[in-house]
Amino acid sequence: MTFGARAADALLEASVVGSFSRIGLAARSRLLPEFTSGTPATLEGRSVVITGATSGIGHATATGLARPDAAWRDYRDRGDRWRDDPEGLAAWQQGRTGYPVVDAAMHQLAQEGFMHNRARMIAASFLTNDLQLDWRAGAAHFMRHPTDADLACNQLNWQWAAGTGTDSNPHRIFNPTRQGRRFDPTGAYVRRHVPELAGLPAAVIHDPDPATRRARGYPAPIVDHRQAIGAYRARRR
Ligand SMILES: Cc1cc2nc3c(=O)[nH]c(=O)nc-3n(C[C@H](O)[C@H](O)[C@H](O)COP(=O)(O)OP(=O)(O)OC[C@H]3O[C@@H](n4cnc5c(N)ncnc54)[C@H](O)[C@@H]3O)c2cc1C
Repeated sequence: MTFGARAADALLEASVVGSFSRIGLAARSRLLPEFTSGTPATLEGRSVVITGATSGIGHATATGLARPDAAWRDYRDRGDRWRDDPEGLAAWQQGRTGYPVVDAAMHQLAQEGFMHNRARMIAASFLTNDLQLDWRAGAAHFMRHPTDADLACNQLNWQWAAGTGTDSNPHRIFNPTRQGRRFDPTGAYVRRHVPELAGLPAAVIHDPDPATRRARGYPAPIVDHRQAIGAYRARRR
């Protein structure tokens, strides 16, 4: 029996299946076949995905890799404290951050129940790094919306974005303006999802000046990216 197969057996024996109903998931994670074909070198990430899918379930300790709590508890400590800011959270949820690409992403999620992977990464980085709000609040919001909402994939991607995940980079910080210019160079994505900015040319759409914002009823940035990230980095020193 391969290592992966033994690990999968151990997970199942650790009451994985019996506890699925507690969180209202289907009886299978759909990822176990992946897990069983893994090698020890690739298992860590997969096991976390599996255990994310099976959150709320006892302890699958046999592999030493499984983290049944990874869907709600930090996989790694980020060395920082989350802020409590209900207004900031609401602005992010409603696409009123004043960062066009973030707001476009959040509007697309609300309207279509979908977001491109890059947009998800930008929105998640903004919540956890610029606003320093708990990734669990963002993950819960995403789970309420996307048509592809998947507990394991969602929670572990959020941990990745927040710097609390399985890989070793806790400083994954996206500049939302630069990301917008780079991945939406014509501004088409923002124009489609932020109607206030629809008439603006590509050169300014990702960072309209204060007068343009006021004239169009589009909010000023709720945080200054440089200051917010500077403060975050200073706290970690
Ligand atoms: C914060 C965050 C939350 C996410 N939540 C979910 C979720 O709930 N459900 C979900 O299915 N995906 C989730 N993803 C992964 C990814 O965003 C979506 O799978 C992707 O946007 C789906 O669109 P696509 O099929 O056009 O992807 P493409 O970019 O065309 O990729 C093709 C396929 O590769 C896989 N894939 C791509 N990126 C990822 C990734 N980061 N992680 C895992 N698989 C990936 C998906 O199966 C996807 O369909 C999340 C990503 C982030 C950053």
